[in-house]
Amino acid sequence: MKHFSQLLHNWYDQNYRELPWRSTSDPYLIWISEIILQQTRVIQGIAYYYRFIEKWPDVKDLAAASEQEVLKMWQGLGYYSRARNLLATAQIIVNRHQGIFPPSSKELMGLKGIGKYTSAAIASNAFNEKVAVVDGNVLRFVTRLQGITSPLQSNDCFKSVQQFVDEMIDEESPGKFNQAMMEFGALHCTPQKPDCIHCPFSTSCYAFTHSVTDSIPVKKQKISIRTRHFNFLLFMVRHNGGEYTYLQERAEKDIWKGLHQFPLIETDQPAGFDDFNQTEAFNNIIGDNNYTLVSTSQMIRHQLTHQTLIAKFFVIKLSEKLKNNDLSLSLVSSENLGQYPLPRLIDRYLQQHGLPNLIKTK
Ligand code: SF4
Repeated sequence: MKHFSQLLHNWYDQNYRELPWRSTSDPYLIWISEIILQQTRVIQGIAYYYRFIEKWPDVKDLAAASEQEVLKMWQGLGYYSRARNLLATAQIIVNRHQGIFPPSSKELMGLKGIGKYTSAAIASNAFNEKVAVVDGNVLRFVTRLQGITSPLQSNDCFKSVQQFVDEMIDEESPGKFNQAMMEFGALHCTPQKPDCIHCPFSTSCYAFTHSVTDSIPVKKQKISIRTRHFNFLLFMVRHNGGEYTYLQERAEKDIWKGLHQFPLIETDQPAGFDDFNQTEAFNNIIGDNNYTLVSTSQMIRHQLTHQTLIAKFFVIKLSEKLKNNDLSLSLVSSENLGQYPLPRLIDRYLQQHGLPNLIKTK
């Protein structure tokens, strides 16, 4: 074993976190954990992982699920294309590969939602393939160690880091090497205050020996954040002796595709009810129904990676069901609302306000 790998493995043996997917070589379980952990913190991801594999213990079970079921399970994790891709890939593995995962990173990479990183993570851990992974933690650790100053996430930076880990990866236990590299970045060579004093690589680390740990990795320019104003129409209507509201599925190529929301009017600026209740968008929904505005929520700010959403909920009582329903709105009873996959913003709003009281008509 190379000296670098030896130091890394020693550190890992003493410091690694016991995580449920680390004790398995089942490619299905490793795949699920890797997809959940993209853009999700480990602490939050563990609960989802357990729920997911309890409901769908193997790839055949998952392939038989509906998209709405998978999205519902994913609710709150964000980046919902991950959930749709999971289902699509499970179906491909069952239909084209007899339910058996392709056993190489090259073949895995052709599957939906499985890129270079995920294919390497699965192949090295499940099939012992000597293929090195590069994630954000590895990028930070290696750029500091090697003094790589090309901007983070640029091709040059990625290539230099990939070349380093390709050279260093341990032939006998590539999966462990990959886990250790990522764990070292996550726990020791952290974004703020890396523990250089106790680092096994400090004497050869460029950033430490040149006192530039704060300026490596070099950050890319900040991406601009778009602000959007969402006005949700939370209709209340009594129907067949029960309490109902309307939901619509988001079908466009936009955030939350496949999730459900209350009918939405998006505006360029913060809006009150009077700002849109004469607009074509509102009239297309309400038609000639009689309605009463019951309440308007405070503005609720919801941060996504590249978008800031400013939302308001307008609770509107209808005297009867909507007549012109050209917008594919679904009439949903209060009891069934929880079965629909909802964006976290809406789910949180409902949890805070208590659904049965909210749509109870008097
Ligand atoms: S010395 Fe510090 S900056 Fe360098 S690898 Fe170790 S923890 Fe990271």
